[in-house]
Amino acid sequence: MRNRHRLLHICFVFYQLIIFSSPAKSDDSIIERFRAYLQIDTSQPNPDYTNASKFILAQAEALSLESQTLEFAKNKPLILLKWPGSNPQLPSILLNSHTDVVPSEPSKWSHHPFGAHLDSQGNIFARGSQDMKCVGMQYLEAIRRLKASGFQPVRSVYLSFVPDEEIGGHDGAEKFADSHVFNSLNVGIVLDEGLASTTEDYRAFYAERCPWWLVIKARGAPGHGAKLYDNSAMENLFKSIESVRRFRASQFDLVKAGLKAEGEVVSVNMAFLKAGTPSPNGFVMNLQPSEAEAGFDIRVPPTTDAESLERRIVEEWAPASRNMTFELGQFKQRASLHDKFGRPILTATDSSNPWWNLLEEAVRKANGKLGKPEIFPASTDARYFRERGLPAIGFSPMANTPILLHDHNEFLNQAEYLKGIDIYESIIKAYASYVQHSKDEASRDEL
Ligand SMILES: [Zn+2]
Repeated sequence: MRNRHRLLHICFVFYQLIIFSSPAKSDDSIIERFRAYLQIDTSQPNPDYTNASKFILAQAEALSLESQTLEFAKNKPLILLKWPGSNPQLPSILLNSHTDVVPSEPSKWSHHPFGAHLDSQGNIFARGSQDMKCVGMQYLEAIRRLKASGFQPVRSVYLSFVPDEEIGGHDGAEKFADSHVFNSLNVGIVLDEGLASTTEDYRAFYAERCPWWLVIKARGAPGHGAKLYDNSAMENLFKSIESVRRFRASQFDLVKAGLKAEGEVVSVNMAFLKAGTPSPNGFVMNLQPSEAEAGFDIRVPPTTDAESLERRIVEEWAPASRNMTFELGQFKQRASLHDKFGRPILTATDSSNPWWNLLEEAVRKANGKLGKPEIFPASTDARYFRERGLPAIGFSPMANTPILLHDHNEFLNQAEYLKGIDIYESIIKAYASYVQHSKDEASRDEL
């Protein structure tokens, strides 16, 4: 009897070992945790930051990471986690992700945007599945694996889960990067979001285009709608719009011809047109108005000659000779192309930046491949770190994936998600154990 009991017991233990160590089973729980995070509705304009914070803090506790909740603006928590390194003198690694997502129109989705539905092909449908709850959770899963393997970081690894990126990041990453807390972290490199790639190469971003929001206004003598005369506000504004359109086409042609990537050209798109004399039924039709206005969203790569672009605006797009008004100080928004040290706001991707080489190598080691480094076409929180002169790389490991951020039916395949965890495991390991750079960093700090 005793032997039989023992045998049964051994069988049971063996069974448990198979069940709990089988990769499929642990993958299941990884996917469940990702889906649980996706199911928290953190969409703007009323993100559920309370439950997102609770969820992240619970993950941190399960992983024995140090945590603190910072509030730079009321009810907008920023969760900061720490995995302490054995050498706290060395600059640390910051893994940044935002917790909010853009709004969605559930009726236009095949599955509810906060249901995190997993279909038979392994696609997980949810707002934030690409932008960028995937990345936040992948950081944590990679750390879970590294901890389980006994890995001990030399550099401290921080994770920031920031609010409000989708509405500009002013109460999130911007205030964080300006804070004493941030200074005390002694950050040496920041990883932030990138974009999905439709090919098998991952995309990495070393800079982003800077938004210039321009409004130009034309004034002219009003006149009868039947009269042909020069210098009407409408005529003058249209000449400017034509000039802007020619420039837009010249930039777009470079992209279409494959000579430049989207992030490498100046994009200009008309955001609004405002003119006409309102009447109870619409607009007065027999009157040419005395004022007309147009607004443009211009995105400028940090490698652009800002002065020549400004000259183009003054001389061709809004010349005083056509009764156009525009003043350089009147941009609705005009992001600087330089960091606070006066250097172009970009992260080096050559041998001068060891973090870039480490990233490339770590991705390769995990059987991934990086495409040519790119300029991000829009804005992310990475700019707040680059503004401070810090290297920041935008990277979301999603290959063979359609780009669906901010779109209906945003999804990520679970196999790609799991592969991304391998990639981060490799990157975090390489970054957190990197020591050779310490001398260069010390001399840079002295400067
Ligand atoms: Zn994002």
